[in-house]
Amino acid sequence: MDEAAFSALAQPGLQRLRAYDPGLDLVALRQSHPGLVELGSNENCYGPSAAARAAAVAAIDTAFVYPDPLGGALRRALAVHHGVGPNQLMLGNGSHELLMMLGQAFAGPGLDVVASQFGFAVYALAAQAAGATLVQAPALPGGRPMARGHDLAALAAAVGPRTRLVYLANPNNPTGTWFGAGEFGDFMAELPPTVLVVVDEAYLEYVTDSSIGTALDLLPRFPNLVVTRTFSKAHGLAGLRLGYLVAAPGLVAVLERLRESFNVNGPALAAGEAALADTAHVAYVRQANADERQALADALRARELGVSPSQTNFLLVDFGRDAAPVEQGLVARGVVPRPMGGYGLPTCLRITVGTRDQNRRFLQALDEVLA
Ligand SMILES: *Cc1c(COP(=O)(O)O)cnc(C)c1O
Repeated sequence: MDEAAFSALAQPGLQRLRAYDPGLDLVALRQSHPGLVELGSNENCYGPSAAARAAAVAAIDTAFVYPDPLGGALRRALAVHHGVGPNQLMLGNGSHELLMMLGQAFAGPGLDVVASQFGFAVYALAAQAAGATLVQAPALPGGRPMARGHDLAALAAAVGPRTRLVYLANPNNPTGTWFGAGEFGDFMAELPPTVLVVVDEAYLEYVTDSSIGTALDLLPRFPNLVVTRTFSKAHGLAGLRLGYLVAAPGLVAVLERLRESFNVNGPALAAGEAALADTAHVAYVRQANADERQALADALRARELGVSPSQTNFLLVDFGRDAAPVEQGLVARGVVPRPMGGYGLPTCLRITVGTRDQNRRFLQALDEVLA
């Protein structure tokens, strides 16, 4: 029996899904290009806090026992950090796992999941894997200032009687755009309480614009709100796979029925606690990224390229023509960007803001490619 034959036996949602496409073979590229400049996955170019690293290394000594299935110590630390109860928190093997679990728990055949055009790809995946129908709301138009960002009015209009979940990101990947706290409060107030709204705040630690509050502030008012966070970006722990969500205790209790008991490993739990405590490291990362983000955006705009406004650690760059040859030219010179054809943005590349040296090498390669 081949894949098609087994696919016919799978649950309906799975029949229409394709497996994750890892794109470039980074392992091979690292071998062929020593010093490869990896700007494709929005990882933290400054690395994790030294304390988080030490905690993960120390936790290897107890890797022969199962980790705490409740992640108690980290959940208590996060509860204090965010001013919520530990029963409002669930840890995940990356926030990706939690985004998928929300779909499994609350969506399904006959139900709609609403997300935005140019929203993070995982939301569509979560809807499809659950066998639900994805309803895509149009994004704001291209062109500045808020190029291709979420249109909250369009998202609200896309919500219908079959909608169980809405996924949105603030700031959003891959556009880098954001919405303000006041605007989001109005959006929440419009929706019925039976529609669960998932706000993915993977990049919130990178935000420097004070108008962008966290949706966590609205949790007491809206029990249908779910906020996801991750240790993969500003905390620099992408490889350990650690994320969490904050929601009403009852919602967390339902999700607990689905959670695999040891979904977060011991080194990740230990590193997460240490990373959370090392606020100086996050502040350093935020400031260094903000400085480099501005410098890189200025440099790209000076080259007359379209650069979306960004409050994240990446920039969406519009070349105004097919970006595939640009991508190929960069990769040939040892710089890895993220192509955007899969998002319906074939003229764009997404570029992670790197260290000053990485950005210099990227711009140098870009100038050669564009020449
Ligand atoms: C990187 C990213 C995440 C984080 O995923 P993890 O599974 O926590 O590593 C979540 N949402 C968005 C929009 C992202 O870009």
